[in-house]
Amino acid sequence: MKEIVIIGGGPAGLTAGIYAVRGGADTLLLEEAFPGGQIVNTTMVENYPGFPDGIDGIGLGNAMQKQAEKLGLSIVYDTVTGVEFTPERKLIHTTGETIEAKKVIIATGSSPRKLAVEGEEKFTGCGISYCAVCDAAFYRNAVVAVAGGGDTALTDALHLTRFAKKVYLIHRRDKYRAGEALQKRIAHSDIIEPILNSKVVEVLGTDKVTGVVVENTLTSEQKTLELDGVFVAVGTQPRSQVFADEVKCTDEGYIETDAHMMTSVDGVYAVGDIRNTVLRQVITAAADGAIAATHAVEMLMG
Ligand code: NAP
Repeated sequence: MKEIVIIGGGPAGLTAGIYAVRGGADTLLLEEAFPGGQIVNTTMVENYPGFPDGIDGIGLGNAMQKQAEKLGLSIVYDTVTGVEFTPERKLIHTTGETIEAKKVIIATGSSPRKLAVEGEEKFTGCGISYCAVCDAAFYRNAVVAVAGGGDTALTDALHLTRFAKKVYLIHRRDKYRAGEALQKRIAHSDIIEPILNSKVVEVLGTDKVTGVVVENTLTSEQKTLELDGVFVAVGTQPRSQVFADEVKCTDEGYIETDAHMMTSVDGVYAVGDIRNTVLRQVITAAADGAIAATHAVEMLMG
């Protein structure tokens, strides 16, 4: 039996790992793909303290992983397929085994929200992308659209200007959710054309993406934009499905916690983007991880 099992290797899970191993707990972190979480899709993180010139997301994720492993955290690459949580017993089923833990820290984060429009599924990975950092280079001299009005959408649009010859920025309202600094940079770009009060209602194409149908959210008027690719940046949704029957979640699927990050089950914690919180940033995810692991270690000591 493990003392602490952490599920998910983003900033929240890795920070929990750092605090857990430094607290002397026998700790295992389960990660499905590769550590780093959502930040590995970010070109530049400018608001994480300690990096006056910013740091690229992959670099920050790698550094956190390296630090955690150097301190003694074991990372196992496996997918959690089910869990059974009671105050007395915690079982984690993966594709390879069943692990029992005294304490569990859930840090599975969130995944990109879909537009849920016709053509989206068909062209996902070949014309529709959820990661500008990963795929922008495929769109050299192309015409693309970014859907969304948050920090991610505006950051993606700016990143795409390094490759594409035209970037439509399609947002459903007339005001962006993104910060002022990003909005100013968008306004100064000759390559980005904002299309406000509008949403993508269909992605067009037979073998490849050839355009999108955009609907005006005020007038319902529709028009077609000819383009080569669509970058979807309309927020994220919690990856809590596997835990939803075991711990209390909000209607949106975020896991509810107390001040120690403890869920409705004693000894089970939730940290980072998966948690019902007011701010989802690297810094808050890391802080959640530290709080949960510190409490878990204290509880293990009795
Ligand atoms: P977000 O802030 O939730 O923004 C999502 C955007 O998508 C909103 O503009 C929203 O429109 C729009 N949207 C949502 N559902 C939609 C739908 N079905 N159809 C069309 N549009 C839809 O998500 P985010 O931009 O990914 O940012 C997530 C968090 O990460 C934020 O806290 C953000 O500050 C942070 N972040 C920080 C950085 C950075 O600091 N470098 C970079 C990226 C992200 P409405 O505005 O109308 O709701």
